[in-house]
Amino acid sequence: MSLTILALHAHPDDESSKAAATVARLVDEGARAVLVTATGGEAGDILNPEMDVPEVAQHLAEVRAGELEEAARIIGFDEIVMLGYRDSGMPDSPDNGRDDAFCNQPIEEVLERVVEVVRRVRPDVVLGYDDHEFYPHPDHLRIHEISLEIAAAAADADRFPEAGEPWQVDEVYAPVFTRERILALHTAMLESTGESPFAVWLERGVGGDVERTTFKFDVTGYVDRGRKALAAHRTQVDPRGFWFAVPTSVVESVYPWEDFELLYRNGSPNSGRDSLFAGIRE
Ligand SMILES: [Zn+2]
Repeated sequence: MSLTILALHAHPDDESSKAAATVARLVDEGARAVLVTATGGEAGDILNPEMDVPEVAQHLAEVRAGELEEAARIIGFDEIVMLGYRDSGMPDSPDNGRDDAFCNQPIEEVLERVVEVVRRVRPDVVLGYDDHEFYPHPDHLRIHEISLEIAAAAADADRFPEAGEPWQVDEVYAPVFTRERILALHTAMLESTGESPFAVWLERGVGGDVERTTFKFDVTGYVDRGRKALAAHRTQVDPRGFWFAVPTSVVESVYPWEDFELLYRNGSPNSGRDSLFAGIRE
């Protein structure tokens, strides 16, 4: 298989919580995968009580870079590109206002950096972000903006001539939580633990009736790899937390897919439902 995939993410750990099982399967089937992480996650909270100690807090960017390396190895990424921007923090936090925050860098400048990577790596498929209606983290919104523009910008010889030879990406997708998936996990969670964090998601309408073209990708046998990658982000996830509450066997029996929204297709954007890695390019 000659499929190259480039996954564009905001923070260390996003590569493990979004489409990790998909990338793991693609890599096992012969794809080359490159991870681009925009920020160092410096503004993240330490969400695992066991890791919430001063030595970790004082060196959070370094610690998170180490966690990212381990997670990327578990998933199977061939290369990690750190863009080196500073985490902008949660919406309306003081970090948003910093001059060096990712969200305050000129979009053209950021786009040029990513175009440069795309023109070097030459991916067939880019994984980016949807509009993040229910999680408006400024860095994620930035990745969404870039996701919408990257394919056209990388292919256009008149744009960023210093950033390498133009390259045409075939498709851009965003991993998404569909209503169907949330309901399946919610039900499984209620059955196995008596409570479900997805209840709040359902109330807020996450994955609701938006018009979008979505695809399912079968990740049977890979859910565990995604979880192991996520668990490698020891500062960011509590191993006793809800992400791990439902056994992988249950997840795979109720919903063995990851879902993707098509953001761009070369020639005919958002037309047709005949491709998510085109049967992995048989
Ligand atoms: Zn993030």
